Amino acid sequence: MLRHLALTCILFLFSQLNALSGAAVNSQPDLTLDSTAKQQGEFFVVIVSGISHRPDLWFNEKRFTMFRHDNDSYRALVPAENLMKPGSYALLAKAGSWKKRIPVQIVSNNLPVQEIWLDEKTNRLKATKEEKAKVKAALKTLSETKLWSDLFSYPCNGRKSSPFGVKRSYNGAPVTSYHKGLDIAVPRGTPVKSPARGKVVLTGYESNRFHVHGNTVIIDHGQGLTSIYMHLHSISVNEGDMVSKEDVIGTVGSTGISTGPHLHWGVYLYGTSVDPELFVRKKY
Ligand SMILES: [Zn+2]
Repeated sequence: MLRHLALTCILFLFSQLNALSGAAVNSQPDLTLDSTAKQQGEFFVVIVSGISHRPDLWFNEKRFTMFRHDNDSYRALVPAENLMKPGSYALLAKAGSWKKRIPVQIVSNNLPVQEIWLDEKTNRLKATKEEKAKVKAALKTLSETKLWSDLFSYPCNGRKSSPFGVKRSYNGAPVTSYHKGLDIAVPRGTPVKSPARGKVVLTGYESNRFHVHGNTVIIDHGQGLTSIYMHLHSISVNEGDMVSKEDVIGTVGSTGISTGPHLHWGVYLYGTSVDPELFVRKKY
């Protein structure tokens, strides 16, 4: 009888253990993507759910910080660089002993190559070291709180004079560069409005060695998303200011290297430029 009881107990324990491990299997994290194919200049919406601590995420041998999305999920908007070679890649997430890999495709955006011929004098006009370093660092800002919530609005309304992503070859050399934003041609003095809530992380002035970008504002929208406004005539915000959607941050101009009044608007994820209009068309 005792022996039978002992056996029953053991069986009971065993079934409980099974149930526990079953529960553990069910509560494993999961990695999901909004799509397994993206064009150059787009981004993946990557979510790891069923997890209470930050997972690690890699794409194309680069590590991306994930940010808290929900009570039990983390998210990253992972950019597919505009000059990334089309083909097969993978996204990999890891947390403790759990890991999941999802194969993805990068597809060409088939944007034309623009041949630019510069005379020697213009070719020598380069951004100052300080200008470059400051812009790069500001565009790479990673902050935990997601400040934007809505669709982005256009910072100003007018004719789109140059689209995002057009590939550029200088003086017949191979493509090494591309247009990292959207140009909107509007008269000098037109107000420029923040497309979403954020924090001003850089104001740069042509008079203070911003020779190429001209008067420039960079806004951090949180969780790896930043935006830049270049060639401004005037700037009406300061570093550290919080701005709401549609707050005026300055006016359109033609400062820096620019052939006429226009706004150059760029949107960046983890310091990599993506098509700004993706955020106007869809809420992320
Ligand atoms: Zn531009």
